[in-house]
Amino acid sequence: MTDQYGRPIDYMRLSITDRCNLRCTYCMPQGIQAAPRQEILSFEEFLRIARAAVTLGITHFKITGGEPLVRKGTVPFIARLKALPGVETVTLTTNGVLLAPLARQLADAGIDGVNISLDAADRDGYRAITGCDALEDVLAGLHACLALNIRTKVNCVLLSGSETQILPLAGLARRHPVDVRFIEVMPIGAGSSTSGVLQARARAILAREWPDLHPVNEHRGFGPARYEASRALRGRIGWIDAVSHGFCKSCNRVRITSTGLLKPCLCYGEGLDLRALLRADGDTRALACAMAGAIFQKPQAHCFARLQQVSERHLMAQIGG
Ligand code: SAM
Ligand code: SF4
Repeated sequence: MTDQYGRPIDYMRLSITDRCNLRCTYCMPQGIQAAPRQEILSFEEFLRIARAAVTLGITHFKITGGEPLVRKGTVPFIARLKALPGVETVTLTTNGVLLAPLARQLADAGIDGVNISLDAADRDGYRAITGCDALEDVLAGLHACLALNIRTKVNCVLLSGSETQILPLAGLARRHPVDVRFIEVMPIGAGSSTSGVLQARARAILAREWPDLHPVNEHRGFGPARYEASRALRGRIGWIDAVSHGFCKSCNRVRITSTGLLKPCLCYGEGLDLRALLRADGDTRALACAMAGAIFQKPQAHCFARLQQVSERHLMAQIGG
């Protein structure tokens, strides 16, 4: 379907849990007031949402969280989602800590891609950002995915004070066929009190090392990243720079929080309570009809430049990024 501004909407992020095994400084440094379990949607309920979404032309799904791999049953859920008629792709965003032992099962479930969040390339830097000594586990997860030919990307948030991480993290794209994408800090949750590095500064660091870095007009997924290539790199460098270069004009996505709120835009708190509809036992048609109404109203653009207008009060871990 298209929204009121004519943008085709074909991508949905499903945040299947608000729990996480890390405490990233910019996301949930103190943990969260986790929602009571009965408020978190069951996998059956997520599948009902996906069935309704497919009837609206939404065929690409991203599984996120919290940390999706801490929820029991995530991999079988992914297999069932992937097998739904009309679903084209299912991808996963994970911090990678629990990934290595699950990579084979994810491949068997038909996963179309895995994004691993990694904001530091050395053990101390990683521990300082995440509160956990798990860099080796994350790298094992990355290598397990590569060995299984799972399309793998690395996502790094551009944090002030971590500029020295930018080049070593980008170096993963030199050694491996992975895209390394740099994300500007968004003023959501703990991100609103986190100081970040803008894309232009990060790019300057990389261009000093790889002067032939140049934009390529490639779609390498379903998101807003812009990509650059260098002869020295096997993967691409990607930029997800919502703050300095808004990409709302081509936004194709909606989000479902773990408690079943359909969020048309990351920036605003408003959404449609799908859990109430699901538990009132609305059928797929009724659900799709309500979803279509909310998606049609998707706001024209985010308001990260006018912080007082950001009405979203959830943490990113509750929304799913
Ligand atoms: N736990 C999983 C992970 O870290 O990939 C999935 C959930 S996490 C909320 C999804 C993505 O959002 C991660 O790449 C994370 O780095 C990013 N993220 C969290 N807070 C952010 C913020 N304030 N600005 C930009 N990205 C953020
Ligand atoms: Fe957890 Fe992901 Fe948030 Fe880090 S960014 S605290 S891994 S949800």
